[in-house]
Parts: sequence; C-alpha cells; structure tokens
Amino acid sequence: MNENTCAACDSELDEHAIQVTIGGRAVEVCCEECAHKLREAELRP
Ligand SMILES: [Zn+2]
Repeated sequence: MNENTCAACDSELDEHAIQVTIGGRAVEVCCEECAHKLREAELRP
C-alpha cells in the first residue's frame, strides 16, 4: 500500500505535500487545491 499519493487526486506526493485533517484523520495532498477539495467534501452531508 502506497501512502505517498494525494488523498484527492492520487498524484504522487513530493516535498510540497500538504497535511490536512479530515474527519479526525491526517491525510496528505499534493497541493492547496486538493486540500480545499477534501475540506469541501467533508462539509457536505
Ligand atoms: Zn492532488
């Protein structure tokens, strides 16, 4: 299992990865745009 991929778009992560906490879980995304997508998704019912 590869954990070095973006939680939003499955791109490979590099040193620019951003850590986001979603539903109490820390995940990593490749860019601010993907972090935003995940946060938006979490807010949806
Ligand atoms: Zn991404």
